[in-house]
Amino acid sequence: MIHSAELVLPMTGNIVKNGAVVVEDGRVVDVTTGRGDVHHEGVLVAGLVNAHTHLQYTCMAEVGQRVYPDFDAWARVFNDVYFGSADGSWDPMLRKGAWDWAASALDGAWQCLRSGTTSVADIVTDLEALVDSPLGGVRYLEAIGDSDTSWASGGRARFEGMLDGVSGISPHAPYSLDTGVLAELAELARDRGMRLHIHLAESPHEHEFTTAATGPLRRFVDELGFGIVRDGGSGLAPVDYLDSLGLLGPDCHIAHGVHLTAHDRSLLRTRETAVALCPRSNRVLGLDGPDVAALLREGNPIAVGTDSLSSSPSLDLLADVAALRDLAVRQGYRDGDLDRRLVEAATLGGAAAMGLTGEIGCLAPGARADFAVFDIDPGAREPYRTLIEKGQGRCVATFVGGSDVGHMGTD
Ligand SMILES: [Zn+2]
Repeated sequence: MIHSAELVLPMTGNIVKNGAVVVEDGRVVDVTTGRGDVHHEGVLVAGLVNAHTHLQYTCMAEVGQRVYPDFDAWARVFNDVYFGSADGSWDPMLRKGAWDWAASALDGAWQCLRSGTTSVADIVTDLEALVDSPLGGVRYLEAIGDSDTSWASGGRARFEGMLDGVSGISPHAPYSLDTGVLAELAELARDRGMRLHIHLAESPHEHEFTTAATGPLRRFVDELGFGIVRDGGSGLAPVDYLDSLGLLGPDCHIAHGVHLTAHDRSLLRTRETAVALCPRSNRVLGLDGPDVAALLREGNPIAVGTDSLSSSPSLDLLADVAALRDLAVRQGYRDGDLDRRLVEAATLGGAAAMGLTGEIGCLAPGARADFAVFDIDPGAREPYRTLIEKGQGRCVATFVGGSDVGHMGTD
């Protein structure tokens, strides 16, 4: 089967005018020119890769439609809604009554597919959210709230017993798990050949927490009853702290990276750890945006994520790419490669972050035949820029493994 379009963006090579993608058994065989068996109006792009989301929380969209004064204010509302009580008296042991996580995750998967995303780094907190959909990528089981004591007395065994349906492990964040737990999760992932993914450098208060074990995040985890001890703190800033525990490496990618110093960025490059940037989620939480200009200039591996609907207005990845573009320009990045590099981050970058280079996020021979068609002007002078600025909400067809997934699914 050959799919053609006036403009094809394969991402691994140059833009192809009057392009044709040759597909056999769900894989790309060749990208060439000419008229195909199926001709698409618009621009055909390699399937987008959302490198950080929690599709489980799609039903919590009411939480993500506001802007909060800070991270703590958002997290309190999130917990009230997640645990299903609005009066602030929730108890972690009584949670999860109200939500159908499977239906919610499936709804999220279809929202991704309908906007041109064909693979995701999806974090699952509750196993009910492990549902089948055409999406590729990696599913990460989240660990959160364990102290070294609770981990040793059953927490670890329980977590290991839940790993069957996933190929990744997500220690939630440096402040929501004890030191020993973080180190053991990294070992566990490597023993099993699984990927790692962690929220890092998101809130400005992480620094105070990891260095001194004080501040708003300390109060927050104490209120949650996590029982994390860490007396006196580690004396290390968040990125150094995780590195000292063996978390960082080419098999790990982090989400957010809002508060990264030049030293942090350099360490992440040395460890080959990619950063999934989620600028719209940062805005909802009242946080600063990441220093995308510095990450681009210094050559850090980057990817793009929407985060979940509990902290973002939509799962349309191109909206986050557009937000990154605005940030980069405001931060003084004016190089001519900006648009292409940002679309690369949303395709090749996401694939690399999950260890799936050559498999997803590109139309190169051997890759899964995942692509999306956007109803934008194929004659525009700057195709990458046009995709970023006009692509949101304009995806008209999505193919996964060569199959038209339609724009059906749950609404
Ligand atoms: Zn997240």
